[in-house]
Amino acid sequence: MVMRVVRNIRPAYRDLALAVLAFLALVVVFTYVDFIEWLFFVTRSYEHLELDDWIAAVPALALSMAWYSYRRMQESRRLSEELSATVASLRTATKDLERARDVAEKANLAKSEFLATMSHEIRTPLNGVIPVTELLLETELNDEQRAYANTVYESGSALLEIINDILDLSRLEAGRVELERAPVDVGNIVEGVAMLFGAEAAAKDLEVSLFVDPKVPKTLIGDGTKLRQVLLNLIGNAVKFTDAGGVTLSVALEDRTDGFATLRFEVADTGIGISQGHQRHVFDKFSQAEASLTRRFGGTGLGLAICKSLVELMGGEIGVQSSKGKGSRFWFTQRLAVEAAAADQDAERDPGLGPLRVLVVDGSGLNRQALARQLSAWR
Ligand code: ADP
Repeated sequence: MVMRVVRNIRPAYRDLALAVLAFLALVVVFTYVDFIEWLFFVTRSYEHLELDDWIAAVPALALSMAWYSYRRMQESRRLSEELSATVASLRTATKDLERARDVAEKANLAKSEFLATMSHEIRTPLNGVIPVTELLLETELNDEQRAYANTVYESGSALLEIINDILDLSRLEAGRVELERAPVDVGNIVEGVAMLFGAEAAAKDLEVSLFVDPKVPKTLIGDGTKLRQVLLNLIGNAVKFTDAGGVTLSVALEDRTDGFATLRFEVADTGIGISQGHQRHVFDKFSQAEASLTRRFGGTGLGLAICKSLVELMGGEIGVQSSKGKGSRFWFTQRLAVEAAAADQDAERDPGLGPLRVLVVDGSGLNRQALARQLSAWR
């Protein structure tokens, strides 16, 4: 029973308790069984103790303390051995995990490379099918033949779009996309992209507005092709998901320091908007809103994932603010180098309208709102 109680005490206290017991036992032995007097000591009546008893206590105390220290040393050695065993097993587990991660990364890379190669292989014959169908549509065909040829053309074009998206994404994931460094005229790119969607927007009676902050340097150094690709995706979506109102594309200068300009691009629309829940996943691969919308608007759910990868590859950030039923505002930032010669031209370009009051007349409410926003940002 006593041993069971002793075993249940924590090792450090157990050793201390045993040391005290050993001390008492030794004192008793050293004082030739003058146990009763030592019991008085325990109960604090030490006036009963004589000098002999105190002297006997010294070796007893020394021996019991030596035994206690020896037990503690054993215990700490045991604990440090346990600790080294745990550290060793943790090291092994970490190495196993690193090996598993390397295998998974290699498998992922192999998958991306396989996808990139396959998409490329599928795209090659498609690039033959589509132009030949276009040629076929220009020949004399009866109505039935024309309908068949049109279906081939439309399906081929849709397939080409999907293949191109998969090819882009898998190349990005496989790290096979390199950034160009060439002079970029942001104003030109933005205008070109907006023009491309002019006809589609006009067919839906949508207004397309464009604003480029005059402080944006004329020529910057960066990858214009990828910048264009991101803008094409965002404006394409804005036009696709908007039935009334319009789309505004604006570029503002956020910061200009040490020969670099940070630009903020925004594509705002008055379309169907995106619910809060879906906004969190909108940049994930194959992420699309409700199935009914997917059927109505089509698409792969890869466009925004590609935009995110491209923007991040170019060192920027991308995001969205949206309100369901009211519209969306997609934005991204880009830090581009300012060409030395361009800095002087920019100074000349500044119209210096600073303190002048300007009356802007525009028949479109959307344009008036966007101008007001832009003018207050420039002030
Ligand atoms: P896709 O347009 O090919 O489906 P994206 O990755 O470009 O793929 O877009 C993913 C989803 O995000 C779309 O299916 C749509 O649900 C939503 N989305 C993107 N842009 C807009 C927008 N401007 N307005 C409303 N929803 C949008």
